[in-house]
Amino acid sequence: RNHVATRFSGIEKSATYAVLELVHELRAKGVSVLDLGGGEPDFDSPEHVVAGAVDALHDGFTHYSPSRGLPELLTAISHKLREDSGVVADPATEIIVTPSAKHALFISLMTLLDPGDEIIIPTPSWVSYKSMAHLIGAVPVSAELSSENGFRVTRELLERYVTDRSKAILVNSPNNPTGHTLTPEEAEDIASFARDHDLFVVSDEIYEKIRYNRAEHISIAALPGMAERTLTVNGFSKGYAMTGWRLGYVAGPAPVISEVLKVQQHSVGCAGSFVQRGGLAALTGDQGVIAEMADEYAARMALIVKGLNSLPGITCDIPGGGFYVFPDIRGTGFSSSAEFAEWLLTEAGVAVMPGTAFGPGGEGHIRLSFATSRDVIEEAVGRMARDLAKRS
Ligand code: PLP
Repeated sequence: RNHVATRFSGIEKSATYAVLELVHELRAKGVSVLDLGGGEPDFDSPEHVVAGAVDALHDGFTHYSPSRGLPELLTAISHKLREDSGVVADPATEIIVTPSAKHALFISLMTLLDPGDEIIIPTPSWVSYKSMAHLIGAVPVSAELSSENGFRVTRELLERYVTDRSKAILVNSPNNPTGHTLTPEEAEDIASFARDHDLFVVSDEIYEKIRYNRAEHISIAALPGMAERTLTVNGFSKGYAMTGWRLGYVAGPAPVISEVLKVQQHSVGCAGSFVQRGGLAALTGDQGVIAEMADEYAARMALIVKGLNSLPGITCDIPGGGFYVFPDIRGTGFSSSAEFAEWLLTEAGVAVMPGTAFGPGGEGHIRLSFATSRDVIEEAVGRMARDLAKRS
């Protein structure tokens, strides 16, 4: 008898974790591996954020918090949403603090989607959306974007994927893996599409704080008529370098948020109480640290884009945000991105993600993370140049 629930049969192990495991294995054998595969800031969390959590521990914040989150953090999030992107959310009824943006996404999808309901996911996309939909019995529908138009979302494309089971659409800007940030026209297209087909939007804005060349950050919930049909998900992992803290939030209309809260209450209870005090310090403290990290990402981005474009057969666009580049590798002569990524890891000791890991539209590309030092980036590009030259 198989004791594992059948809902797991279609679910793949996270591709990012798989690459990470391979990197650990190779390193254990003494191989020098440069890891550009993962998606985690290399910075430690800011000092004042750490102090906020340590103080909280000394203040006795070692108990459960309200399931919705600490009131002062909810107020700070409400303020941030309004200031940064014009999203109006009542801290008492329209926001929930969650242990990670990932959990916010999971409980949001759980709340919106019945088994069999479809959620449209423009792809290439972050690896977990599809698996989350599968886990709750919903149907992820990949809307395949094209690199030829810079992975832009168009109304015409979305119309091809809508059915009478469509219930929601997932939007991620700045985007992992493509680096694309939504333009006002695209955001408008998505909003009118959602309104016309009566869909909910789940907007994952986790990379909001990391943007380049004055790329705009647009929250779909701030567009006319969208607040009542959008769940905005964000968190502290990327912008504040707080991945290990597991802290995020979701904001949306009160009737939906009250249902999301039930899922949180019955799944995890609440986010860590002292962790939330760290989050409060992050939002209310000096924002200069974010700008410093963003400046460093910008320098690394320039370095990796220039380096990759100097390689034969590779073309790399400048991302609007996030800390990934998603170059086109079709000119290198490899038959697939998986073959290229495997070759790169075994020959050059450079770990990257094959584009296919991110779903339809990802083939012909690889994702490199530049959340690593400039030295590592230079060395990685150098190794790629050396080993690509050997092949030709
Ligand atoms: N959304 C996207 C697009 C991500 O890339 C990630 C992390 O890799 C997350 C959400 C999850 O963030 P968190 O660490 O808050 O769970």
